[in-house]
Amino acid sequence: METKYIFVTGGVVSSLGKGIISSSLACLLKARGYRVTIQKFDPYINIDPGTLNPYEHGECYVTVDGHEADLDLGHYERFTDIQTTKANNVTTGRVYQSVIDKERRGDYLGKTVQIVPHITDEIKRNVKKLGNTGNFDFIITEIGGTVGDIESLPYLESVRQLRWELGSNSLCIHLTYVPYIAAAKELKTKPTQHSVKQLQEAGIQPDILVLRTEKHISADMRRKIALFCNVSPEAVIQSVDVDSIYKVPVKMHEQHLDEIVLSKTGLTPDGEPHMKPWLEFLDKMDRAEETVTIGLVGKYVELHDAYKSIDEALFQAATYADHKVKIVYIHSEKVDERNVDEKLSDLDGVIIAPGFGQRGIEGKFVALKWCREHDVPTFGICLGMQCMVIEFARNVLGLQGANSTEMDSQTPYNVIDLMEEQKSISNMGGTMRLGAFDCKLRSGSRAAEAYGTTDISERHRHRFEFNEDFREQFETAGMQCVGENPASHLVEVVEIPDKRWYIGTQYHPEYSSTVLSPNPIFRSFIDAAIKYHESKK
Ligand code: GLN
Repeated sequence: METKYIFVTGGVVSSLGKGIISSSLACLLKARGYRVTIQKFDPYINIDPGTLNPYEHGECYVTVDGHEADLDLGHYERFTDIQTTKANNVTTGRVYQSVIDKERRGDYLGKTVQIVPHITDEIKRNVKKLGNTGNFDFIITEIGGTVGDIESLPYLESVRQLRWELGSNSLCIHLTYVPYIAAAKELKTKPTQHSVKQLQEAGIQPDILVLRTEKHISADMRRKIALFCNVSPEAVIQSVDVDSIYKVPVKMHEQHLDEIVLSKTGLTPDGEPHMKPWLEFLDKMDRAEETVTIGLVGKYVELHDAYKSIDEALFQAATYADHKVKIVYIHSEKVDERNVDEKLSDLDGVIIAPGFGQRGIEGKFVALKWCREHDVPTFGICLGMQCMVIEFARNVLGLQGANSTEMDSQTPYNVIDLMEEQKSISNMGGTMRLGAFDCKLRSGSRAAEAYGTTDISERHRHRFEFNEDFREQFETAGMQCVGENPASHLVEVVEIPDKRWYIGTQYHPEYSSTVLSPNPIFRSFIDAAIKYHESKK
């Protein structure tokens, strides 16, 4: 079949969850046997979100091919089990960079280079890139930002042109917000009408409207919106708040979103999507009664999206273990010797978060010392693993002042140090050790037991590494280096086998955890936390 292009735009306000709607549609189409991928176009000028502070856009996600991407790509993967790549996330910065490179090479043969057609052509080329591989039946393209933003205009113009070129092989889903005015006790459709008008001004007629709302929108009101917005009534779909984002595909299917997309793109919807494993997951989620409590020690805890993939991986693992998870966010800057006991004693397990730089680091060491001495299941991820190593060096090996050279370039014991090939790099964007690398686990280790194999591959995002010179000292004292890169022999996993569950991974297992295939090391951690919880009863 010819590739179908679905564009998802948003209006009224930002943060409506275009990523969740795109992911839910992809989930349904995939469950109908179609080959689907989702891509995101971000209107900001950064080349990628890698250099962005998490306070700006939340977590930076990493694809298998080592691209630092928008966190929506995490949703795409969690909902669909599709592996995204660099091609699935394009920013205005990348578009302009490519056009400017072409201009410098002389590719435009003396022409004046302009937003239309040069920038829009470059956007269109990127939109069709994955479609042209022949690997997909559906390409869902989420356009970041909100209709009416200056910076979104070139994208909307590209969508307008593509819709014209592709005809019935494309359609536009527009997501808006229907606010409830408590004082008037009324839902209001005017912002939606205005938003659709704005889209029409850009030359785009939406085919489907998805209305985000806190309250049920009556059929009458939906008919009214359909009438004012030139959309067929059945294609006005409501997305009422639900208690879990993973219920959205089901809610969309109940209103036939997948069937409408199929018929509007000239396909015949036959049968039902195969959602059995998904529904089983939801069922487990709804039936879970017991709660496992996990503390997450990090410095971006005021903003929960900063640890989005970790939160989701914990939730998935807990659901499969028939538990709810309560995540207690603990600000690492506020943990000290005096309050650590009070902050950590009610927890069943502790995660020491990834991160960069000195701020909040000492609190992580205090938390780790407490966890190690109290034998609480503890999981260090990336910087968290490096902190485990440093804390062990200081307090068990007696190496006073041990540190990572990231935090203290003069440390007498550089147990975590810069990789040789990183030393000459001065550019900050895209220069870390990024993407999936193989890792060999020591058989018999707890990590190998968790994965059920000794050969794994997980994603990385860091510059610093365990310093090989200290390996023997650590192993003799009880911290084992149980995972290493088979080619470079870099240490990827440490664990203290004497403890209940004390493991640090240099990689980020959270990036590969999905609803239908939760990451094994998270499952093992949660199982240990549940066991510990029960032992305390
Ligand atoms: N700052 C550390 C490094 O660059 C860890 C990075 C991380 O936690 N993602 O090695």
